[in-house]
Amino acid sequence: MRTISSDDTTKEVKRLCIEANLYLGEDVLTCIESNLPKEQNPVGKDILNILIENANIAKEKAIPICQDTGMAVFFVQLGQEVIIEGKTIEEAINDGVRKGYEEGYLRKSVVHPLTRKNTKDNTPAIIHYEMVKGDKLVIEFAPKGFGSENMSKLKMLKPSDGVDGIKKFIIETVKEAGPNPCPPIVVGVGIGGTVDKCAQIAKKALLRDVGKYNYKDSYIADLEIELLKEINSLGIGPQGLGGNTTALAVNIETFPTHIAGLPVVVNINCHASRHKKVVI
Ligand code: SF4
Repeated sequence: MRTISSDDTTKEVKRLCIEANLYLGEDVLTCIESNLPKEQNPVGKDILNILIENANIAKEKAIPICQDTGMAVFFVQLGQEVIIEGKTIEEAINDGVRKGYEEGYLRKSVVHPLTRKNTKDNTPAIIHYEMVKGDKLVIEFAPKGFGSENMSKLKMLKPSDGVDGIKKFIIETVKEAGPNPCPPIVVGVGIGGTVDKCAQIAKKALLRDVGKYNYKDSYIADLEIELLKEINSLGIGPQGLGGNTTALAVNIETFPTHIAGLPVVVNINCHASRHKKVVI
């Protein structure tokens, strides 16, 4: 067995919260840069340049990429040979969020759903756990802005709707979202499972690096490429002002489902597609 202190976990989570909000990932930056010469609308080109400049300024001045520093979402893989000493892992992560958002001067955006009273420290975090073999603790963090989260959708399709029904639903969701999720977007898609599992894998799909297709299933990877092409021909463009860079990626994850159903969740992320990982 290996012991990891809850204090060390908190420290790492605090660092993840700050760094993810200040430094746009190389995957997203490289993808925006590679889309620049392909963007046909001059206004769209200008916006892509502004997004690159914005990311560079955020990095140099150590300020957030966007004012919406999101709700704190985590995917945790806990090795079976790990013991967390001190507080529970849940407390350790929430302490890290509390410290990261306070000390990093990040906006606290979490409120009671009905009274709208702010919790004032951006907790509680949304934490998805997975028990795995080994003696490591892997924590992936993705702050999620709600301009894009609000544009996400769930549909319980009929099995007979098949892949055509899935494509139609994804395209319609992106079309309806238009400029609201701050394009160019990353489209996370979950197919299968139950309602909850489907939403979870759609969110997890957003943590995959932009530009990396589904490596487990070449059929799904082909579907991702086809949908990205189709979305980029919708004309929405950067910030919704027209152009052919509407999405940077379509990331699809699947899970076996029931014979009577075909759940699909589309979880949209914006150009500030932030995610960071630590292995302890
Ligand atoms: S959707 Fe993204 S880029 Fe737009 S305001 Fe929210 S976090 Fe910022």
